[in-house]
Amino acid sequence: MSTVHGRLRLLSNRVLPELQAAHNGGAPEPQHSTPVYIDPMTKEGNVCAGCGSPLTFLSKPNFGAGQLKDGGRVCRRCFARIVEVVPSFGMRSKKDHTKASIQAILEPAPHTTQTTMGIDSPTGNQHKEPTDDPVPFLLNALRTGQGKKEALDAAHRAHERWWAIDVSDREHSMEELNELLELRAFVLGAVATVCVWNSEFGIADHLQPTFIHHAALWSGERRDTIELYIIHLIFQKQWPRLDAIFEDEPLKAAFLDYHDLYRSVLDPHYAFQSKQDPFLNTVNKVNQYCRQIGVQRLI
Ligand SMILES: [Zn+2]
Repeated sequence: MSTVHGRLRLLSNRVLPELQAAHNGGAPEPQHSTPVYIDPMTKEGNVCAGCGSPLTFLSKPNFGAGQLKDGGRVCRRCFARIVEVVPSFGMRSKKDHTKASIQAILEPAPHTTQTTMGIDSPTGNQHKEPTDDPVPFLLNALRTGQGKKEALDAAHRAHERWWAIDVSDREHSMEELNELLELRAFVLGAVATVCVWNSEFGIADHLQPTFIHHAALWSGERRDTIELYIIHLIFQKQWPRLDAIFEDEPLKAAFLDYHDLYRSVLDPHYAFQSKQDPFLNTVNKVNQYCRQIGVQRLI
């Protein structure tokens, strides 16, 4: 009785009213008790230290980048603006930067003298989209499900830029080097996901070994990288590719919830192996993502 649908029946009075509605054929529940489910993709009270906008699933930069020494975090757009001024921010944010220091970068102190135009300078709140960094663009496309073709162009450019990064031209500490390699794995994972989205499976196959075994992406915030890749392989019904991925036993153990999701999509009677509550949270999280990008839920 531990299939997804069986468990959802048992949980019908608990935390997953929407899944229960889906199980009932889409009919809404006649009455809702107070919903206690908290979307794991949107941690409440989590806002950008730069502009104050909410930090949500994939609106956070680079799945883990942009964290500050004092525990704050910036959004993708603030991240991109800071990097324009301080190129090392991506690697050094957690060591060198605080909310105060990044706000000084984002919103320079008001001019005490008049500008040459005789107009007070705006405080710099307008978000300028960087034109030369394809990564924020393709992440945004993954987050919204919009701009599929443009995302593929951005993915190709990001691929070129990150495939062979030169780490020899300046001195990196081991810690910085590891962070750089993790960023590379993260970027190439997002590139591969956009390729899968666009049915360019050859490139995804080529990139996959560079990120899927990168241990830093197996836990923590950047785990989203591999989760999204698997989700898009499921969207594209790439069963042999998914079988091959899950033949790796340590990976299967680390992503057992996604393995079970994939098997449950293939077979509604599949008896899942994951622990029940975390697994149903994963199912709900993925269905939330489906809604976010406007595709039919998987289960
Ligand atoms: Zn921001």
